[in-house]
Amino acid sequence: DTIGAHLDRAVAAWPDREALVDVPSERRWTYREFAADVDRLARALLADGVAQGDRVGIWAVNCAEWVLVQYATARVGAIMVNINPAYRTHEVGYVLRQAGVSLLFASLSHKGSDYRAMVDEVRPTCPQLRRAVYIGDPGWAAFTALGTADRQDELRARQAGLSCDDPINIQYTSGTTGFPKGATLSHHNILNNGYFVGESIAYTEQDRICLPVPFYHCFGMVMGNLAATSHGACVVIPAPSFEPRATLEAVGQERCTSLYGVPTMFIAELNLPDFDSYDLSSLRTGIMAGSPCPVEVMKRVVAEMHMAEVSICYGMTETSPVSLQTRRDDDLDHRTGTVGRVLPHLEVKVVDPATGTTRPRGEAGELCTRGYSVMLGYWNEPGKTAEVVDQGRWMHTGDLALMREDGYVEIVGRIKDMIIRGGENIYPREIEEFLHGHPKVADVQVVGVPHERYGEEVLACVVPRDPADPPTLDELRGYCDGRLAHYKTPTRLSVLDAFPMTVSGKVRKVELRERYATR
Ligand code: ATP
Ligand code: MG
Repeated sequence: DTIGAHLDRAVAAWPDREALVDVPSERRWTYREFAADVDRLARALLADGVAQGDRVGIWAVNCAEWVLVQYATARVGAIMVNINPAYRTHEVGYVLRQAGVSLLFASLSHKGSDYRAMVDEVRPTCPQLRRAVYIGDPGWAAFTALGTADRQDELRARQAGLSCDDPINIQYTSGTTGFPKGATLSHHNILNNGYFVGESIAYTEQDRICLPVPFYHCFGMVMGNLAATSHGACVVIPAPSFEPRATLEAVGQERCTSLYGVPTMFIAELNLPDFDSYDLSSLRTGIMAGSPCPVEVMKRVVAEMHMAEVSICYGMTETSPVSLQTRRDDDLDHRTGTVGRVLPHLEVKVVDPATGTTRPRGEAGELCTRGYSVMLGYWNEPGKTAEVVDQGRWMHTGDLALMREDGYVEIVGRIKDMIIRGGENIYPREIEEFLHGHPKVADVQVVGVPHERYGEEVLACVVPRDPADPPTLDELRGYCDGRLAHYKTPTRLSVLDAFPMTVSGKVRKVELRERYATR
């Protein structure tokens, strides 16, 4: 299916089920109402002259209009370009030019940022940008009013002429390790992925998914929105950007059955001083993904958040995104200690990064994935695409992993994050997992920093549970003593309130490394 045809089937199957709830603005849509608003916006795109393959940008925080733009652009075969709402003029100008965006939807303002002023500033450098429409501005209503009902036949004809292999979306990667890359994805790529992610956790039309993760990232728009519309479930938007309290409130108020987050979001929720006062009794499942999910945190989510069936996903933007996931019936060990098994119709292998030969089970190597989910390529960057997708269509993920005998996969960490101290390879993940067990540690990141004699040494960056009583380096070293090899034990400690993050909620280890590169 194309995404438009997929939406038609959802409306036919669940016309009166709720599809979308925007909690901050107190608006809600059934599938029928949602599709009617999508169609009106899609007809407006036609009236505005948007041709198949044109790039339409969305630079906005989470709101219902984001989702309308997602489905309306798909209906007319435009390529939606997701732009990180945290971007400022330098970055947004780059993306608008790189992707050749001709029409842009943007937030009006958020937390003091004036998006219109920023667009006005970059416009002279983006001659192909012919129109910008601001969400929450009278211009939005004026634009959608262009979508008069008499264009419905034209819209149907446009949709009928699309192919599921057409590019539909340019999603920029999180920029955790460097400058983001624009992965170009087809209907087929992301629709299938959303469907199978929803299958793994057995979504039905009874499910209500609380989404504090950004829509601009595949976690929100594929694992959230597309998983929902392929199973008749409802998407609940708790806030424009992540707020732990608003998220837990929305779960109780909207009786959500599923909650998503990257590990740091769950940690922030669990550590709220008034955590016990939220009603989470409606939850049964959810997804933790995006970066290493510490076993301790997973166990707390299972035990304290009413999420016995919580699932871990592993994926990357370039693969639509998910390739590995835990399933509904997995036991606690597999659910918390692995990223699950390969999804249907995909392949994974673990190879020696130097030679490309497949590693035996239980031995670490670079994870590679293949199948329907692999992107069409980085937008206009065939050279960069060839660096990661090989001749056999295998995507080389840049992540180290090992496959257990039973096919479950453990992620060891990013190749780029590996620390080499005096010739020993050290994986930060292992030390982080261990330090998560220390009672004074709420969250921890381990990075390598330059050392004269050893090349690199191990730095632990800790967010303490109680800011008034952080752990000392001696305490942490004492905790490691006899339980962790001497060369892995941190020799430096930094106590922080919070880590530098991407908008998708990932810790920017690069930034920590740079910050502490000198003593
Ligand atoms: P960039 O490629 O721009 O540096 P990024 O890799 O963070 O940023 P994404 O595509 O959002 O951009 O993230 C994919 C990466 O996230 C994976 O390659 C992996 O390193 C990490 N990741 C995702 N899920 C998991 C997981 N469950 N466990 C460990 N790591 C994960
Ligand atoms: Mg990446």
